[in-house]
Amino acid sequence: MYLNTKGLVLREAVYKETSRILTVLTSDAGKQTVTARGAKRRGSRIAGASQLLAFSDMMLYGSRGRWVLTEARPIEIFEPLRSDLEKMSLGSYFAELLEAVSDEEIPNPELLSLGLNALFALSEGKRKNALVKSAFELRLMCLAGFEPDVSACQVCGRTDVSAPRLDLSGGVVRCRDCRGEEPAGRAVPLCAGSLDAMRYIVGCDPKKLFSFTLGDEALSRLSAAAEAFALTQLDRGFGTLEFYRSIKEE
Ligand SMILES: [Zn+2]
Repeated sequence: MYLNTKGLVLREAVYKETSRILTVLTSDAGKQTVTARGAKRRGSRIAGASQLLAFSDMMLYGSRGRWVLTEARPIEIFEPLRSDLEKMSLGSYFAELLEAVSDEEIPNPELLSLGLNALFALSEGKRKNALVKSAFELRLMCLAGFEPDVSACQVCGRTDVSAPRLDLSGGVVRCRDCRGEEPAGRAVPLCAGSLDAMRYIVGCDPKKLFSFTLGDEALSRLSAAAEAFALTQLDRGFGTLEFYRSIKEE
């Protein structure tokens, strides 16, 4: 059968020298493995659409688990990312996160849209990479069913949370007075600004996800908290994140 869909390439691997095996987040059938035959040959018509992070109109032929890309028209290839190693490595990390939380066969338009919006924001470069990364990680966790409760201190219920800390495994915040209830070593410090940003990210209109500003100190707290929260909830590490970190340190 044929399947006409839109798809974002989350991973690509070389296959038999001239072909690629792709992991694609499709709009109609969730995550799928797709063979792009001859995609590495000179002049291939599917070369552009089979690159990592390309978003395209795709015609697939086959059946579940055995799709072949027969035709493709790139819609957006996020060109600015391709000449910026830091942004490209961050985009690859976004792709690995999307792959980790998406399901085969089950379309998830919100997830695909979040991924595309994050890649657009990275490409545009109007927001700091760290802001885009944190907002993406946190919102992704919400879509994956791990939405943290950042509305009030989990113990005393105060919404004006003094010296807030995020409990990474529980997904709750606690104030200074209630810190005694905290499990050892599993909480990270926030501040008024980073807590407000988390509240915004969790509840805002998805189209305005990256439309907030934050001072440098608050942004670094948000970054540390969002990343640690995602890794704790998903209970794994990401090779692409390690690579991104190694580039940033240089
Ligand atoms: Zn409290």
